[in-house]
Amino acid sequence: MNIKSIKKDIAIIGAGIIGCAVARELSRYKKTVVVVEKEVDVGWGTTKANSGIIHAGYSDKVGTARLNLSHSGNILFRKYAQELDIPIKNVGSLVNALDKSQIGVLEELLNIGKGNGIGSIEIIFNNENIKKIEPNISDKVCAALYAKEACIVSPYEAAIALYENASENSIKFLFDSEVSDIIYNKSANLFYIKTPHANVEASFIINCAGVFSDKIAMMIGDDSFSINPAKGEYLVFDTETYGFVNKINFSIPVGETKGVLVAPTVDKNFIIGPSYEKVDGYDVSTTREGLKGIRQKAEKLFPNIPYNSAITSFAGLRAASNSNDFIIGPSHVNNKFINVAGIQSPGLTCAFSISKLVVNILKDLGIKLRNNNKFMPVRKRLMKFNKENYEKNRELFKKDNQYGEIVCRCEKVTEAEIVEEIRKGANTLDEIKFRTRAGMGRCQGGYCTLKVMKILARELDVAFEEITKAGKKSYMVKEKIS
Ligand SMILES: Cc1cc2nc3c(=O)[nH]c(=O)nc-3n(C[C@H](O)[C@H](O)[C@H](O)COP(=O)(O)OP(=O)(O)OC[C@H]3O[C@@H](n4cnc5c(N)ncnc54)[C@H](O)[C@@H]3O)c2cc1C
Repeated sequence: MNIKSIKKDIAIIGAGIIGCAVARELSRYKKTVVVVEKEVDVGWGTTKANSGIIHAGYSDKVGTARLNLSHSGNILFRKYAQELDIPIKNVGSLVNALDKSQIGVLEELLNIGKGNGIGSIEIIFNNENIKKIEPNISDKVCAALYAKEACIVSPYEAAIALYENASENSIKFLFDSEVSDIIYNKSANLFYIKTPHANVEASFIINCAGVFSDKIAMMIGDDSFSINPAKGEYLVFDTETYGFVNKINFSIPVGETKGVLVAPTVDKNFIIGPSYEKVDGYDVSTTREGLKGIRQKAEKLFPNIPYNSAITSFAGLRAASNSNDFIIGPSHVNNKFINVAGIQSPGLTCAFSISKLVVNILKDLGIKLRNNNKFMPVRKRLMKFNKENYEKNRELFKKDNQYGEIVCRCEKVTEAEIVEEIRKGANTLDEIKFRTRAGMGRCQGGYCTLKVMKILARELDVAFEEITKAGKKSYMVKEKIS
């Protein structure tokens, strides 16, 4: 096999929300950067499997990086979501007390929030007042901490937006490139990073490998931290339930977690979860017991959850470090290797504040960062079929009649959108799914999977049997019968 050689100033390992945000931030400067990712797309680690909340910034321990970076992260996320056309909705969050003994916890969180600079945060007393903003909440909820700045976003669309904008600004992404070894050459002052299709040389490494960041650090002999993954399971409800829940609703936090939540998604579904279970290895399975546990907790907040509208379940892995805090800084083994590890919740919220911190760390190390005058901050999503405005669709249809061909009936995704994403680089079913939502609706791809596969085969000019779900060997069909 032909192994390429790539030489850049900085290599980022991992294209989750953190690696992508760091890449985009670095594209403001005149440095050559490569992002090395083991999957065939961005955001397929923990980034695609979380609650999708941009927290206001009150729910972590005082003195932690998790708290310190969260409120500034919230402000930056809301700003950059506009610039990058990331779907975001400012719905606000409630932490709900089920009896008076829990009000003390709300007061503690209120103080943390105010200390962290949150302006719009208050405790609402009395079930009647809470029902005014959350009509289906349990009669037993007696007080709630209301933080107006909390938002919901699509986390994988955020990663895609950052990837598209960083690429436009000359950052190189290497996909399907699992890092298997790193060697440091002291005399050349260079890291040699081994991947299956390319050898990458870089002066600096930024380790953004999520639950695998301890394994990556170990490759240079840094054993200063470990990642102990904790699984969180969710149930997702159909968009027909839109309006059942308005705000991000948490129960009172317990132990390591922010509590079980019942929250809308930016795509008009709602979710309940997550569970909390320490796991060995990469376990993202959902289980009867895990889902039963979250149901019991969610029902305490919302007794009438419409389970007949549950359409799917998923699980994500928290990259919890042994210190239980983010680990962001140069490694003690080699200060040109920067760990951005232990990025569990609220890592999504902190993506932009972390990316700015990483740039400051590089500056402190003496790396000269001159402005890239060609930096383009704005990125636009593709035009989408509009479920509410059929007049707009008529205009789209006039431009391209493939906007008249609905491929995914549940999410109303047209052939034009799928073809456009393939032209932009999508090769697999999952890349199409995360970009267009084809297959994410009530029937979970029962109707559109074959249609999307046929479009992929036609546009990529490959055999139908070569289409994969997520690259590598994830073929959808085994062989052609006739
Ligand atoms: C259940 C749950 C709920 C959460 N809810 C929220 C929330 O509502 N709000 C919030 O702010 N945060 C939340 N979080 C936290 C948030 O999801 C994470 O902090 C964030 O996604 C971490 O992003 P990341 O880029 O560090 O990791 P990842 O998304 O896991 O990215 C790491 C990347 O590194 C790649 N990689 C790993 N090893 C290698 C290798 N050897 N070679 C090449 N590439 C490699 C992986 O494939 C992956 O793409 C939640 C987390 C969980 C688990």
